[in-house]
Amino acid sequence: MIPDPDSVPRRSRRATSPIDPRIAIIGGGPGGLFTAYELQRIVDRPLRVTILEASGRLGGKVVTPRFASADVRYEAGAAEFYDYEHFGHDPLKELIAELGLPIRPMGGPTVIVDGQVIANLDDVRDRLGAHAATALLDFDRQARDRMTPREFYASGDRDGPAACAELSRFDSVIGGIACPRARRFVEHMIHSDLAAEPSQTSVEYGLQNYLMNDPAYMRLYGIEGGNERLVESLAAQVDARVLLGHRAERVARSPRGTLLVRSRAGEAVEESEFDAVVVALPHDCVSRIEFAGDRLRSAVAAHHAHHDHPAHYLRITMLFERPFWRDRVSDSFWMLDRFGGCCLYDESARDPSAEHGVLGWLLGGDAVRELASAPDNELVERALDSLPAVLGDGRPLLREARVHRWTGAVSALPGGVSPMRIDRRHCPEPVEHPNLFLVGDYLYDSTLNGVLDSAQYVAGWIAAKVARSPNA
Ligand SMILES: Cc1cc2nc3c(=O)[nH]c(=O)nc-3n(C[C@H](O)[C@H](O)[C@H](O)COP(=O)(O)OP(=O)(O)OC[C@H]3O[C@@H](n4cnc5c(N)ncnc54)[C@H](O)[C@@H]3O)c2cc1C
Repeated sequence: MIPDPDSVPRRSRRATSPIDPRIAIIGGGPGGLFTAYELQRIVDRPLRVTILEASGRLGGKVVTPRFASADVRYEAGAAEFYDYEHFGHDPLKELIAELGLPIRPMGGPTVIVDGQVIANLDDVRDRLGAHAATALLDFDRQARDRMTPREFYASGDRDGPAACAELSRFDSVIGGIACPRARRFVEHMIHSDLAAEPSQTSVEYGLQNYLMNDPAYMRLYGIEGGNERLVESLAAQVDARVLLGHRAERVARSPRGTLLVRSRAGEAVEESEFDAVVVALPHDCVSRIEFAGDRLRSAVAAHHAHHDHPAHYLRITMLFERPFWRDRVSDSFWMLDRFGGCCLYDESARDPSAEHGVLGWLLGGDAVRELASAPDNELVERALDSLPAVLGDGRPLLREARVHRWTGAVSALPGGVSPMRIDRRHCPEPVEHPNLFLVGDYLYDSTLNGVLDSAQYVAGWIAAKVARSPNA
């Protein structure tokens, strides 16, 4: 539960005056909050920041609800943070440390195929056969050849199409795995990370989602007490006017070059003037805002078309009397060869003192498109049916189940087929609207790390403008 931001003790407020720059941030998800926090951190003069958030809470897709029948938490949106500290610089981990939030490593090498637990190469050889093990090793070698850990780390920062190595899709790479059992193994292993089918994403993004299972490339962690604590901490720190329940509907340039944002709160519609506007929304929400004037309208439409590669998630989370699977699998999560390949999170592993067991199924891609309209009870039944016998029978222990649908909520091909230059990603119409910025994870790698990179880029740009033009 997010406290009302205006009731939370904050870092001391800076006094503002009517000549201080007015910045609107549309969207109170991680992207909006990161932008506000970063502006506050790097701009050495007061700013009048307003965050417009359509829903009744801050945090967007970072959400840690509790079950109704027991005071037990689970992650309904973003499950884990990606750890790049071993490369020397990890802005998200540094921010989480700065906010004083304790973290817990997460991991899970296990894949369950045909009801059999496969945790290492020996298991692959024993359960899928020597041919599959050789094919997997070959694929693994090729994947590492194509992308080193450093290239993996730097991939989001590349500036422009010239650096884009391959325009073909990831299914062309997976199709090259000679052994069908090995191919299916890889498909199932990465399906829920992609949230899309291999034919809908790039070679680069597919490889990243395969290689991230290796700690030399990436590690994972969660925030103790729930990932939503990140949102709570940011909300408490950020010095901004937060307008919950305010949906931005229209952005237009005024004759003076400032930007007018029209927003709706219930029946009430208001329009306010800002010196700069940051649209911190997922790509599907950007297209629901009206951008006035031919020039801006067509620039944002082109930006949206370039990035319009929707991917889908669906979470089914169940509370059990006890973690009945732990004797067999004790990882934080594991992959299952159902629903085209899904991830099963042991949500209760986040809290070692928990008595209950919580399992969360993360479905992605086409399976979500097929199932999203099914009623919750049918989805719960199907998820229970998917549990392999080797883990034990959960049905008699089930207490409560929740379903969260995230159709079209992330990008299958972050950056688009051929990524734009970084400044163009963030400023779609620099000539007449140099003060309109976009922030989003879909501009980088569809993760919280990516949306922080995006927010820091835009905050730096605004800081430079404000410094150049002290009277905004
Ligand atoms: C199921 C799932 C699992 C994920 N797992 C991970 C993970 O493990 N690790 C990871 O790093 N990332 C993960 N992600 C991605 C991560 O959640 C996103 O990168 C992050 O939430 C993006 O933040 P955002 O602020 O851009 O968008 P959002 O989180 O979507 O926030 C946008 C906000 O804008 C508001 N809004 C929308 N329209 C308007 C409007 N017109 N006016 C005002 N406000 C508006 C929304 O209400 C929302 O609060 C996952 C996403 C999903 C769906």
